[in-house]
Amino acid sequence: MAAGTARRRRPTGEPGGSSATASGVNAWQDDPGDSLPPAVPPELRAVPDLSIAPLRMRIDVTRPSAAGAYQPGTPEFRYWSASEALARGAAFWRQFLPQGMTWQPGDELPVLLDEGVDFNAFYDRRALNFFHGTAGGRTVFSGESPDIACHEQGHAVLDALRPELFDAGSIEAAAFHEAFADICAILAGLQLQSFRLAILSETEGDLSRSSRLSRLAEQLGWAIRQVSRDAVDPDCLRNAVNSFFYHTPEELPTRAPAAALSSEPHSFSRVFTGAFFEALAGGFRQAAAAPREADLQTVSVDLARLLSIAVQAAPVVPEYFSQVATALIAADASNGGKYRDVLASAFVRRGILATRAAVGMTAGQVAMALPAARATAAAEATPSRELPHLALAGAEYGLGDVPLLVRAASEPRRLVTAAAAVGVGAVSAPSSERAARAFVEDLIQRGHIDVADHVEIPGWIVHPHTFKTHRLARSETGFVLSRILFDCGFHAHMLG
Ligand SMILES: [Zn+2]
Repeated sequence: MAAGTARRRRPTGEPGGSSATASGVNAWQDDPGDSLPPAVPPELRAVPDLSIAPLRMRIDVTRPSAAGAYQPGTPEFRYWSASEALARGAAFWRQFLPQGMTWQPGDELPVLLDEGVDFNAFYDRRALNFFHGTAGGRTVFSGESPDIACHEQGHAVLDALRPELFDAGSIEAAAFHEAFADICAILAGLQLQSFRLAILSETEGDLSRSSRLSRLAEQLGWAIRQVSRDAVDPDCLRNAVNSFFYHTPEELPTRAPAAALSSEPHSFSRVFTGAFFEALAGGFRQAAAAPREADLQTVSVDLARLLSIAVQAAPVVPEYFSQVATALIAADASNGGKYRDVLASAFVRRGILATRAAVGMTAGQVAMALPAARATAAAEATPSRELPHLALAGAEYGLGDVPLLVRAASEPRRLVTAAAAVGVGAVSAPSSERAARAFVEDLIQRGHIDVADHVEIPGWIVHPHTFKTHRLARSETGFVLSRILFDCGFHAHMLG
């Protein structure tokens, strides 16, 4: 898979640090966790290489003068731990990327390892941005957690595969971005043999149990709970072992404590992540009479390959979860159908697929869902892949006669699928206009829109002390809503 890629030679003959050796680096096996000292100490790993293309990366701080087994708490340790996780994630996704595809921002993605004080991290189509924050007497660096590093990298990977999703005016599309990012963190972790062994031991071979694998960003979750008790799960930032059931996000509350589902994308993402995690557990269970650690890696690779095909195949429409689920089953069917039952079961039990949608799929229909055009998506992988603008009446937002332009989740559907209704049957998907209106309303209610210095925009859109994920800018045809970034789910600014 590395054929034809450019490798930059590592500088040699540099002066070594006191604890440095050239044989490897110290890195976390998983998130450092919330206990002191950490329950699982760092491990020695091969020196990571971020310079392999495609998916080349570059950390924007001075590289320590030598690779080595540095101690946690040092800048050198943070540099190498982040490098190791990001190199592992990039190596994993490189094998599923269509030829010719690379990051949206270009061949090399910068990593800004410490951009100041916040309990957050984000991808803004320029770089991965990480922060540090202090709570309960401890300073937490978000870039040090492999979970968070690989989550942000996951946003960038999905942006490479499906750039249309970045600006889609749809709660479910935004939530899928978060689910994909969490799934990336889980799958990247599974590429470490020591972690696979540890997880199988912790869960006694039953991956569907809550474990260090399902608990994402335990350390950041702990820090956030010190300042906002119910903003995140009680044992981590988000747990992929959960029992959330699909509900049309347009009808959910805009905000809710972590124990409940809301239309906030990180909250709603847990429905899809939970289903995917169940499919992973089910795939492992069926791999052999007594599946072993190597089977777990095989299943993780198989499901990632299917997921990469599915996100390229599924049209961006309001009911995006069920479209991706259907495309996953279709991708698997065209590959022998090994995971059909575990995928269908997981998505039906979450309500992402209505029973009739899963039962009614014929081989011909699933073939239709995967047109050859998507298999060669690289051919159309141009930076200008965008969804069409939809004009909403500006008067409804206090913008007078000037329309509000939102990119609508309105790609043509190739296959009719449906999510389950609470009660009986299936829900009918909202129109792309209704989905866009709900999306905009949520952003306004959470204060996530940056209006720069447009004095004509009413104050109830402005919200001076909130974290901004979107911006509103005047163009000749109206006010254009566009996304600035995807983050990992919490903002210290929210309390300001
Ligand atoms: Zn995120």
